[in-house]
Amino acid sequence: MGDPARKPDFEGLVHEVGAELLRRAAQARPSLFDARGLRGRALARAMQDEQLRAALFRFVDTLPQLRTNGEIAEHLRAYLRGHTLAGAWGRLAASVPLAAAVRASVKRVARNFLVEETPPAIRRTLAGLSRVPAVASFDAVGEAVLSEAEADRYLERNLLLLDCLARDRVAAPNLSIKLSALTPRFDRIDPEGSCRRVMARLEQLMPHIQALGATLMVDMEQHDLKPLVLDTFRALLDRFPGRDWLPGIVQQAYLKGAPEELGELIDEARRRERRICIRLVKGAYWDTELAAAAQRGWPEPVLLDKAQTDAQFERMVDLLFYAGERIYPAIASHNVRSLAYAIARARMHNLRAWEVQMLHGMAEPLMHAVAATGVRIRVYVPTGDLLCGIAYLIRRLVENTANTSIVRQTWLERRDPAELLAPPWPGAASAEEPVSRDGFFNVPALDFSRPEAREAFAAALDTVRAQFGASYPLQIAGAQRGHPDVQESASPAHPSTILGRVEQASVPQAARAVENAIAAFDKWRTVPAEERAALLRIAADLMDRRRHELAAWEVFEAAKNWREADADVAEAIDHLRYYAAQALEIGDWRTTHSFPGERNDLRYEPRGVTVVIAPWNFPLAILAGMTSAALAAGNAVIMKPAQAAQIVAHRFAALLREAGLPATVCQLVAGSGGTIGEFLVEHPAVAAIAFTGSREVGFDILRRASAMRPGQRQIKRVVCELGGKNAIIVDGDADLDDAVADTLSSAFGYQGQKCSAASRVIAVDEIHDAFVARLAQALDAWDYGPPEDPRFVFGPVISAQAKTRIERWIETGRAEAKLYYRGRVPAEGFYVAPAIFIDVDPSARIAREEIFGPVLSVLRARSFEQALDLALDCDYALTGGVFSRLPKHIELARNRFRVGDLYINRRITGARVGVQPFGGMGHSGTGVQAGGPDYVKQFMWTRVVSENTLRHGYVPPQEA
Ligand code: NAP
Ligand code: MG
Repeated sequence: MGDPARKPDFEGLVHEVGAELLRRAAQARPSLFDARGLRGRALARAMQDEQLRAALFRFVDTLPQLRTNGEIAEHLRAYLRGHTLAGAWGRLAASVPLAAAVRASVKRVARNFLVEETPPAIRRTLAGLSRVPAVASFDAVGEAVLSEAEADRYLERNLLLLDCLARDRVAAPNLSIKLSALTPRFDRIDPEGSCRRVMARLEQLMPHIQALGATLMVDMEQHDLKPLVLDTFRALLDRFPGRDWLPGIVQQAYLKGAPEELGELIDEARRRERRICIRLVKGAYWDTELAAAAQRGWPEPVLLDKAQTDAQFERMVDLLFYAGERIYPAIASHNVRSLAYAIARARMHNLRAWEVQMLHGMAEPLMHAVAATGVRIRVYVPTGDLLCGIAYLIRRLVENTANTSIVRQTWLERRDPAELLAPPWPGAASAEEPVSRDGFFNVPALDFSRPEAREAFAAALDTVRAQFGASYPLQIAGAQRGHPDVQESASPAHPSTILGRVEQASVPQAARAVENAIAAFDKWRTVPAEERAALLRIAADLMDRRRHELAAWEVFEAAKNWREADADVAEAIDHLRYYAAQALEIGDWRTTHSFPGERNDLRYEPRGVTVVIAPWNFPLAILAGMTSAALAAGNAVIMKPAQAAQIVAHRFAALLREAGLPATVCQLVAGSGGTIGEFLVEHPAVAAIAFTGSREVGFDILRRASAMRPGQRQIKRVVCELGGKNAIIVDGDADLDDAVADTLSSAFGYQGQKCSAASRVIAVDEIHDAFVARLAQALDAWDYGPPEDPRFVFGPVISAQAKTRIERWIETGRAEAKLYYRGRVPAEGFYVAPAIFIDVDPSARIAREEIFGPVLSVLRARSFEQALDLALDCDYALTGGVFSRLPKHIELARNRFRVGDLYINRRITGARVGVQPFGGMGHSGTGVQAGGPDYVKQFMWTRVVSENTLRHGYVPPQEA
C-alpha cells in the first residue's frame, strides 16, 4: 500500500514474525473445537451451515429464560426444525432429562469463554494463565442494567473481583468496566448527569484500584455512547490525578475517524503528563451499529469493509507505538496478521512496554505462540453467571464461527500463511444505498450525542423563551372583528408561565372561514397535483429548516422531552413529503379499460371543504398529517387544533402560508371543540372531517356528521383515528432486558399520553413476577421534571384536568386491583406519579378503558394462548406488542393478534411514516392507516367518464 512507513523490509519482518506465530500455533487447536460428543457435533455442523448456526444461536439465546424440560424441548424443536441435529437432540430428549443435559452442554461451551464469579474459579483461571505465562483483565458481564439496584449489584460484583485480586496478590491487576452498567441512565442527552451518576459509583471502586495499583480499563460501547464514555473517562482522570493507578480506555478501529480520535486521546495524555493504557480493538458491535444507523437514517459510524478496518487498525498500532512513554499500548486481536504487524513494529522500535490482549478461550494456540516471542500477554476474562452472560457468549460464538473468522480460517480451513499474512487490501468502499421507498426518506432524528445538536436545541429553546407572551390573532380573511376572545396558553411544567395569547374564533367567524373555504376550493381543485405537491414540499423544507424551533415550542407547550419533540417534527415533515408523493402517484385521468368506440376514464377528485380536528399529543405530526393529506388531494382545509397546542398550530399555519399555499385553502380556526368543533362538524357545506382524538368525541362526531342538515348537498366522509387500550404480551421465554426496557418506554414515554402507548401488560405466569419486579425497579430509576431540561425523560401531563382525571383512574385502580408501584413527582406543575397495578382482573375498568396517562395494568395469563385471548378481548384494536422467542407464538401473534400495528420484540410506539403506517380498527378507527399507501384517497372520490366515440359506424383512428 502507499504508506511510506511500510517499507518493504518491514513487510518482510511482518511475514517472518507471522510465519513463526503460525508455525507454533498450528501445533494445537483452540479448545472450543476440541469438544466431543453432541456439543462437538453441533459446533462442527454449525461451522459448515450458516442457517443451523443462526438457529443454534437463537436457541441458546432463549436458554436463560427457560425453566422446564418441556419448554427447552419445545424451543429446541422449534429452532432446529428441518436441521439434521433436531433428530439427535430429539432422541436425547427421550433418553435423559433434557433440560439438564442441554443446559450442561451450553454451560460447558460457555465455560470456554466465561469464568464463574467465585474466588476459587478465579484463582484456578489465574493459575492456568500463569503457566502460559499470561496475566488477566477481569470483566463482570451480564444483563443490561435497568435499575439502581442492578447498578449496585454490578458495583458489588466488581468489588468482589477486586477483593479476589487483592487477596491473591495478583500480578499486574487489571479490571475492565462498562460505564453504562454503573447507572441505569447513561444517556448522551444528559452528559453531566450521566457522568455524575457513574462517578458516584466509580468513587466507591477507586480506593481499591488505587490500593492495588491496578489498571482500570474503561470499555468502549456503542458508537453513540462514545463521547459520553470519553467525557466520563476525562472526569475520572481529573478526579483521581495520582500515579497510584493506571487509567485505561478502549479504542475501536472499525469506527470512521478512529485514528484521528486516537490522536486526540494521545495528545490529551501528553497534556496531562499522565500515562494511560489504550486497548486497541477492532470492535464488537458491527452488526448492531449498522442496524441502528439504518433504522434511524443516520450515517454508518463504522467502516463497511473488513479490510479497511484491518488497515486502520495497523495505522492505529503505529500511532500508539510512536506515542512514546505516555501511552501503554494493549493490542487486542486474534488476527495473526495484525499481531505480527504489532510485534514487528515493536521490534523495530525496540519497544518493551506494551502487551497483547486476547479473549479468554479464544485462539489459545495463538496466545501461546505470542507468549513464546516474549511479548506480555493479557487475557481478558469475563466473569459471571454462565447463562446470564449469554449475550457475551453468543458474540464470541458468532466471531469464532463466522466465515471471516480468523480462528476458523487458521485452524479449520488451514488457509495458506501467505494469504493470512497479506497486508489488508481495502476494496473500494461499497457505499450502501440508504433505504428509499419511491424516493421517500424518513427524516432522521437529531443525534443528541453530538454537542452541536444539543447546543442548537438549547439555543432554540432560548429563542422560543424570548417569544413567550406573544399574541396570536385570528387569520380568517374577511371575518368581522368583535371583542376578541383570547385564551392563554400555559406551560404544563410551569402553569404560571404564559406562553402566548391565542385569539379564539366565534361561531360567525368560523362560518366566515367555511365561506372562504368554499370559494377557495373551486380554484384549488383545479390546481394540478404537481403544483400542490410542490407547495407541500416547500413547506416540508421550511419545516426542516426550523425543526429545532418548532420542536422547542412543543417542549414548552405540550411538555414533550427533546427527543419526543424532535421526533414529532420529523414525522410532520415526513407526512408532508409522503402525501405530496402520493398525490403525484394518484395523478390525473387514467383509463380503466377502453374498447373500440368506447373510452373509459377515471379520476380521483377532492371532496370539498375538509375540517381537520386534531389532538394535542402529537401537536404537529397529526395536525400536519391530516391537513397535508387533505390538501394534497385538492381539498380546502379548515384546521381546528386542540386547545392545548394552539401555538404550535399557529406556527404550522404560518409556515404553510409562507410556503405559498393560498391562505384560504389552509385556514386555522382556533376555538374549543365543544363550540367551534361541533359547529364545523355540523356545517352543511363541510364535505369531509378528519378527526384524531378520543373515542368519546369521535363517536359524537360520527353521529353528528351522519345527520343531514337543511341545504346539505353531500354525505360527509369522516376519517377518524381514535384511542387504544394497547396490550403487550410478555411470554414465558421473553428476553427480559428487552421486554422491560421496551415496555417502560412504551407505557411511560410521554407519560403514557400516546394513542399507541402500552396500557396493559399481559404476562405469562412463569415470568410475571420477575418481569413486574424488574419493570418497577427500572421505572424507579427515572426522575420527573420539566422537559426543557434534557436531564428529564419524563415530565408532566398536559393539563390540570388531565391530572385530575388520571388521579381518579388511579383511585379506581386501587379499588379494582393491587397498586404495585407508585413513583414520585415534583409538586409544581401537572405531574402524575406513574403507577403500576397488578392482579388486574380482565373485567376491571382499568383493564378496559383508555386512561391516557402513566398508568399500567398488569394481567396474568396461564399460557401464551390465554394471553392472546385477553389481549383481543378489547373494544380497541390500535397497537399491540409481543415479547416471545418461540417461533410458533410469534407466528400465532402475526396471524391472530389483529391490531393496526403489531410490534414483536420491540417497543410499540414510534411508528414511522411509510414504514409502519399507523391506525387501528374496532373502536380505534376506520382502518385506513395514516402514513400508508391508501391514506390520501380517503379525502377523494372517484369519478368516471365513459364516452361513446362511435359515429355512424366510424371509430376514430387514435382509439383502434
Ligand atoms: P379529544 O379530547 O378527543 O380532542 C381531540 C380534538 O377534538 C381536539 O381538537 C378537541 O378540541 C376536539 N373536540 C373536542 N370535543 C369536540 C366536539 N364535541 N366536536 C368536535 N371536536 C371536538 O382528544 P385529545 O385529548 O386531544 O387527545 C387524546 C385522545 O386522542 C386519546 O384518546 C388518544 O388515544 C387519541 N389519539 C388517537 C390517535 C390515533 O392515531 N388513533 C393519535 C393521537 C391521539 P379541544 O382541544 O378544544 O377540546
Ligand atoms: Mg380533550
